[in-house]
Amino acid sequence: MKIKLKLTFGVGLLFVLIILLAAVSIRYVNGLKSDTENILTANYNTLQYARNMLISLEEFGRNPQAAYDFGHNLEKQKGNVTEIGEDRVTGQVGAHFEALRQMPQDSALRSAIRRDIAELMEINMLSIEKKSGIANQTAESAVIWISLTGTLCFLIAFTLLVNLPGSIANPIEELTGSIQAIAAQRYHQRVHFESHSEFGALARSFNTMAEKLEEYANSKLEKILKENKRIETLISNIHDPIIGIDEEKKVLFINDEALNITGLRRPDALGRTVRELSVGNDLIRMLARDLLNPENGAGEAKPIKIFADRKESYFEKEIIEIRILPTGEETYQSIGHFIWLRNITPFKELDFAKTNFIATVSHELKTPISSIQLSLDLLDHKSTGELNSEQHKLVESIREDNVRLLKITRELLNMSQVETGNIQLKKQYVLPEEIVGLAVDATRGQAEQKRVLIRRAFASDLPVLNVDQEKTAWVLINFITNAIKHSAEGGEILLTLRNTDNTVTFSVRDYGPGIEAGYRSRVFERYFQIPGGAKGGTGLGLSISKDFIESQGGTIGVDSTVGEGSTFYFSFPV
Ligand code: ADP
Repeated sequence: MKIKLKLTFGVGLLFVLIILLAAVSIRYVNGLKSDTENILTANYNTLQYARNMLISLEEFGRNPQAAYDFGHNLEKQKGNVTEIGEDRVTGQVGAHFEALRQMPQDSALRSAIRRDIAELMEINMLSIEKKSGIANQTAESAVIWISLTGTLCFLIAFTLLVNLPGSIANPIEELTGSIQAIAAQRYHQRVHFESHSEFGALARSFNTMAEKLEEYANSKLEKILKENKRIETLISNIHDPIIGIDEEKKVLFINDEALNITGLRRPDALGRTVRELSVGNDLIRMLARDLLNPENGAGEAKPIKIFADRKESYFEKEIIEIRILPTGEETYQSIGHFIWLRNITPFKELDFAKTNFIATVSHELKTPISSIQLSLDLLDHKSTGELNSEQHKLVESIREDNVRLLKITRELLNMSQVETGNIQLKKQYVLPEEIVGLAVDATRGQAEQKRVLIRRAFASDLPVLNVDQEKTAWVLINFITNAIKHSAEGGEILLTLRNTDNTVTFSVRDYGPGIEAGYRSRVFERYFQIPGGAKGGTGLGLSISKDFIESQGGTIGVDSTVGEGSTFYFSFPV
């Protein structure tokens, strides 16, 4: 049944019941009223007239008004005859009263009239008694019928009270629960109402909606699963080892390449924390070091050499944090990391080939360049004939170029030795001042050419060092050559030797243009030259210097202020 009909029916029924109750009550109250009215008009008035007639009868003969009163009341009584026998007795009273008018002294007539009036009163009193019985009966049946109707109304109203609110509220309650379930993504939720009311239609619409949502959610899930598979396939087909870690540092996925180099089996790795895995696996420990101890900071990004599949491979480690912005929030959240090892073996192999090539070429070039040098010396010698000034200039220019060529081939050779790990250190005990002496002697010509003054400031108690004298002097020469190159004509350079905390520091200070902060660490990289700087170098000098100093256990660096000059230094522990 429709809710509207149900409500109309319920309220209508109550309405009808109220009317029924009112009608029954009115009917009985009316019945009672007519009963009492009947007694009043039909009998009470007669008694009144009879009483008046008795009083008038007593006065009759003495008071002329009495005859009139009697006649008047008798007339009224004649008009109020209601009971059986009352007409006859009233007639008798009239007849006897007429006879008494003729013979006023006849006491027998008076007695007869009294008897008639008494009979009249008795008839009416009996009638009152009878009618009052009827009125009582009416009142009793009124109580019964009103009670019955009231009970019926109460029962019907109570039934409505119990059923009607529930029949409306229960489906709403069930629907609310189901909507909440759907909101919580429990799309299998359905509602079941009897099907004829508006709620039935609502339930059918709701169930259709839930079904569609379920279908959509399933298709979305399928899509997500497919996406997931696609990403997994992509990751497993990448030739670089990749390990995915969640926010609790548990392994989420690991591709075949990563399994290959770590020697792990997938079921052993998945779901375990990297800390657990690193206990029995050195490589995992090394790879996850930055993740497990973030307070140590990122270590130096050196290529990692791994021996797997019967060959050496080189990898560059990168740890990528996965950060997401949850819907409705403003701060990013970390949900894990990727450990990505980029396989740089092909580049390394190319690099080796290049280094070997440079080593071979520079080695091969050294001999002809040296013989050119020798030939130039011979050309300059008197025994080969006098040169005119033009020829002399040409020879000098060839010599300068040859010196540069020799320097470049030496630097290239040094670099290739460093890169192939073939640095041969010839360590010996030597005084720092001696090394500085060698370097200053080698650069004197250049300094004089540019009129640069080389000043020295040495500490007095300098200890003997155990270093490769030639390579250290080479570094110092490189520093001084650079300083001269970047000094103005007629400028000056300061060489200092310090001994602090058992560390001897060599430094070369110039008053040139200085180096911008962004380039300070980069000048020690291979082939790096400051953009817009002096041309003609190779960008190798400082990088080789770094390798030479570090291979002897020393440290190297630069301090510089733009516009005020630079100080290049290296130091050795004593
Ligand atoms: P190069 O052979 O080009 O001099 P280096 O490795 O010796 O190579 O130097 C690298 C770069 O550092 C150079 O390009 C140069 O611009 C810069 N540099 C080196 N020494 C100084 C210095 N004393 N003052 C300013 N810049 C310098």
